[in-house]
Order: sequence, then structure tokens, then C-alpha cells
Amino acid sequence: MKSDLQSSNLHVPSESALTQAGKVALTFLEETGQTERNQAVQVFRHMAQIAAERGHELSNIEFETVALKEIVAANTLKGASAWMSPLWKQLEDRQESWGPGLRSTAIQMGYRFTPKLRKLHGSPAKYQLTADPVEIDAGDRHPTPTPDGGIRYTPAAVAAPGAVISAGLRGGVVRHTLPLIVSTSVFVTVAVFLLLFSAWWLVVTGLRSNSPLSTAHVSYTVMWCFVSWVVWRVFKFMSELAELGIVLAPEFLVPFKEDHVTLELQPRDGNKTGAFAFVRYTATCPQCKGRVLLHDGGEEFKGRIVGRCGNSPREQVFSFDQRLHVGRPMRG
Ligand SMILES: [Zn+2]
Repeated sequence: MKSDLQSSNLHVPSESALTQAGKVALTFLEETGQTERNQAVQVFRHMAQIAAERGHELSNIEFETVALKEIVAANTLKGASAWMSPLWKQLEDRQESWGPGLRSTAIQMGYRFTPKLRKLHGSPAKYQLTADPVEIDAGDRHPTPTPDGGIRYTPAAVAAPGAVISAGLRGGVVRHTLPLIVSTSVFVTVAVFLLLFSAWWLVVTGLRSNSPLSTAHVSYTVMWCFVSWVVWRVFKFMSELAELGIVLAPEFLVPFKEDHVTLELQPRDGNKTGAFAFVRYTATCPQCKGRVLLHDGGEEFKGRIVGRCGNSPREQVFSFDQRLHVGRPMRG
């Protein structure tokens, strides 16, 4: 009786849940260029690989630490659990930051499951990869098609600055935006007042003293200009973020190696609180299979964020739609 209803539904993939989850994981790692990244990622990749290959006969993938170490780091001298415990911490964080990217990869592939890693405490501890069903909203049923000759970006949140200090920042998403906005606004306002006051003071003392221009005067002025420049940068950055919802994170906000990262203002949505998120978007170049990363549009594409292919960054340029996550070629 129910079969009629089900057959009228959208295309349901024939692969098992676990196979889907495994394939989603592998595609996501491939598209975001993280396949060979480090041992933590290799643990995840290995389990995903088995899920993709043998998902039809298994309900989950389970490993003991010793077996994982044998596969990923056979030559490491450390004991298995000493080796695994920092990797598991990393994987827990990554799992959170990978969430949106895994979800959009699954939807794009027409799949309904994403991979989920769990640790089963006990002696010995076990690590499990299971399939987690994706909640599909109305908007996901008809995902925007990739434009002709264009690309689709895959998001992956990265650790926010300060992640070393606060565990909450490791997922790359900072909740409770209001206090942050208020404190930043207060900081900028106070800084602007201090600058105006110091400028006034510089001019007044400069006019009063009849002595010739000294090194001290020059260095005060240079310092004043530098501080003004920094405050202006912060102000411009905050106002762009508030107005446009996304900016390329300035270098001083993200670790050096996580370049090409955007800072997004994710608005409050239903019962989801608003958040700042550090997200790295990647795509595969349709022309040469190179990796496309986001850059500031510069003079040529003023006010825009563009994707440039690593193999030919000047010629293979794509637009970037922050909402639809797709891009069109920008050169003929
Ligand atoms: Zn290319």
C-alpha cells in the first residue's frame, strides 16, 4: 500500500546507506583537496573507502586502534592508543567543520546519507563509521544546476583564529554574534575618538611650539597614520561583512596555511542562532581539473570574490555565488 507513495517520490539511489556515506566522504575529500592531508584524514579516508566498497554487505565499518595504526602508520613507534588519541581529537573537530560540505556533496550526488565517525569506549576502544541520514529541505530537492562550463564550490569550515585558546573556535563557527558585533563596534568607536583626539592634540602642540620639526614629531605623526590605517581597515572589513554577508578573511585573522578563507555572517534562521564562520571554498576546474580557490576580485573584478584555478590563475577565472555555491567562467 505504501509502495505507491514511495515510488512517486524523488529518485532514490539503489546503493546502500553505508555505500552512499563512503562515496560522499571520498568525493568530499577529493574536492576539497584533503585526501593526503594528514594521518587523521587518512584514518577517515580508509574507513570511507571500505564503506564505499563493502557498504552493501555491512551495516557499519568498525576498527580497533591497533588495526588502524597498522594500516595508516605501521612504522610509528608510539603505542596504538597514544598514536590515535590526538588524531581522534582532530577528527572530532573536523567532523563538525566538515558537516555542511559533506551535506552539500551528498545532495549534489543525489545521495541521502553522510558518514559519521564514532568512538566506542571500552577496552580496546573501537572506531565506527556509520551512515547518517541527510535532512532534506524544500530548497534541496531542486539544487541549482552547475552552469555550462562553470563550477560548483564545496565549503569546508576551517579553525577560527584563537582556536588554540578556545576549543569552541576549533569548528570554525562562532555562535552568539550580537555580543561580538557590539564589542567590535564599541572598539571601533573608541578607536575613532582616540584618533580624533590625538590628531587634535598633535596639531595644537605642533602649533604652540616654535621649535623646528623634530624626529619625535615625525615619528608621532607616522605612528598616528599607521594606527588610523589599521582602524580604517578593521572598520571597512566589519562594514563590508555586515553589508554583504561575506568577505575574504584578512591574513591576520587566519593561520597562514589556511589561505583563501572567507569569513561569513550566517544570519539567524528559525531556531538557529546567527554565527560567524570561517569557510574555505574549493572547486575542480572544468578546463584542466586543477583546484579553484577564492581570491579578491582586485581592480579587474572590483567588489567581487572570484575563483581562480591554481594552474592558470589569470585566465581560468570563475564567478562565485555565495548563496548558490556555483560559478560561471568569467573569460570568453
Ligand atoms: Zn584550470
